[in-house]
Order: sequence, then structure tokens, then C-alpha cells
Amino acid sequence: MSARDPLADLRRIAFLLERANEATYRVRAFRSAAKTLGALPAAEVAERARTGKLTELSGVGDVTARCVAESLAGEEPVYLRRLLATEGTDLDEAAAKLRDALRGDCHTHSDWSDGGSPIEEMALAAVELGHEYMVLTDHSPRLTVARGLTAERLRKQLDHVAAVNEALPKGFRLLTGIEVDILADGSLDQDEKLLARLDVVVGSVHSGLNDDRAKMTRRMLTAIANPHLDILGHCTGRMVSSRPAGVTGPGDRGHRARTRKESEFDADAVFAACAEHDVAVEINSRPERQDPPKRLIRLALEAGCRFAIDTDAHAPGQLDWQRFGCERAALCGVPAKRVVNTWTADRLVKWTAGRS
Ligand SMILES: [Zn+2]
Ligand SMILES: [Zn+2]
Repeated sequence: MSARDPLADLRRIAFLLERANEATYRVRAFRSAAKTLGALPAAEVAERARTGKLTELSGVGDVTARCVAESLAGEEPVYLRRLLATEGTDLDEAAAKLRDALRGDCHTHSDWSDGGSPIEEMALAAVELGHEYMVLTDHSPRLTVARGLTAERLRKQLDHVAAVNEALPKGFRLLTGIEVDILADGSLDQDEKLLARLDVVVGSVHSGLNDDRAKMTRRMLTAIANPHLDILGHCTGRMVSSRPAGVTGPGDRGHRARTRKESEFDADAVFAACAEHDVAVEINSRPERQDPPKRLIRLALEAGCRFAIDTDAHAPGQLDWQRFGCERAALCGVPAKRVVNTWTADRLVKWTAGRS
């Protein structure tokens, strides 16, 4: 028997490729091979590896078959070793410290809305990263392009999350949540009672991003004053670069990969309101968003706001993008004690419950 788990090695490779922004098809090759092999008895996988018949299975190619064979022989697959060797983590000390202080992620998506992976896989990746919790925040109904969840589907998801939690390692919690649209009038796009039931509510503007300054400011202030809102998501809506390679695909929101300028609002008033209502300002880690820009992070810091450093991950490997947010937060001098996801799950949930 091998001391290594070939499926774990395949998933690890997929994760590292995703994190490195590699093309989606490369990532998928490893994930689908893991899926195919996971459905077979281990003895059959070993027998096929021994007789060179792994590639007869759909979803298993030469490269993935070689990894499995190496892994079954008890060796670290060469492919994996190379990925690990070239992996660059250049975080300076402050950013690394902040990253170490994070215990969870408050903004993530699954294939229930526009993410590419099932809830279970996202949660398991969070476990592997050492997170203590992950908040699942799929989209709300009006965001139809992202398959936003109706109240009925969200209720179903809550039952599903409860079941998934049962199966996850003890000590890790999958928390319930939503990325709710902030509608044109500042109201939140989901049933009030349902919002009250969720552990964490992230609110974001996804439409009318070109609203004039006064209208956008009013809209945001109304949302921030809503007692259900806990975290203000990617507040400017900007896109600084086209979507990174490997991020487009069926699990992603089409090819709207253009850059987009910041929406305009009175940042002093918005951050003052966040501080007053104790709404955390999200530092969105996605490389194409980098939202808010650093000058606004500094402004929010001065206003006394709390922050949440989140990935907005739409795939498991993206859960490791927190380091990008940490780099920007560290550059702006954001202290760990101002960041709500440095808290334990208990403290986080107590905070959100106390607010709504
Ligand atoms: Zn969003
Ligand atoms: Zn999101």
C-alpha cells in the first residue's frame, strides 16, 4: 500500500494551479481525474495504474495518470514537486503577519450561484488552508446573470449547509451568509426574515455602477443603515485589470473582463456611516478588483471602520488569495485588531447577531 493518497495529490495540484492563475482547462484536468478516480474502489485504481490502464478512463490523461502512478509508488508526483518549488510567496513581514492572524473568510461563492465548485469542495479547501470557518455568500435573486438565489433556494441552501457541517472536521464551521445586492433605492435584495437568520450578510452594489455621486451615496448610506448589513462588499465596483487567466469559465460571470472605473460616492460620508453603524468595509482580494483602492482603505481606517479581508473566491484555489488583500491592507497600516475575520467564529457571529 502507498503512503500517499493519489486523489489528495491531484486536488493539491489543482489547487496550486488555480492559485497561480493557470488556465482553467489545466486545473479542470486534475479535478476531473480526481473525481473519476474517486468513484472507483482504491484496489481498481491501483490495478489500473499497475497495468497502465488508467488512461482508458474518461477524464484521465497521460499527465494525471503519471501523477497517480508516482503517488501510488509512494513518491511525491514530479508535477506537484515542480509546482511547490516554483511557488513564490513574497509577502513582506507585515502582510504575512496579517495573513497569519486571519481565521476565516467572509465572502465566498459556490456553484449554487456563479462559483465553479460545490459547497463541500470550497469548505474542504478552506479546512486545508487552516481556516477555522468560511462564510458561504452566494448571490441574491436580482443578480440573475450570477444565478442569484431566490428565498426558496436560499432556504434550501441553509438546510444543505447544516448537513455539510455535520460531515466537516470538528472545529471547522461553515457559516451561512449571502452577498446581497444593494438595490437602486439602497434596500437589500432578500427577504428580511431570511437575512436575519444568516450568520453574515455582505452587501454589494452590482448594478447602476454609474449612478451619479449623490444618488450612489444615498443608496450606500441607506444600505449601511440597514441593521442586517454586516460587511460592505467591494465598495467602488472597480475592475483594475481584465480577469486573470484561468478565472473565466462556466463557473464565472461570463467574459465581462473589461476594466471599470470606480463608482463615485462621498467616501467620507460612507465610511463615517460604516463606523457609526459598525459595518465592516471589505478589502476584496481578487486581483482584478483590488477594491477599495489604497487611498480609500486609508480613509476608512481614519474614519474608525472595521475591515474584512475576503477573497470573494469562486473556486477552491482562489481561497488562498487573501494574501493579496493582506498586502494592500498592510501597506495602508490596517492593524489585525480592526479586521473582523481575525476573530473566532463565535465572536464573529456574536458581532453580526448583535448588529441585526
Ligand atoms: Zn460582488
Ligand atoms: Zn462575490
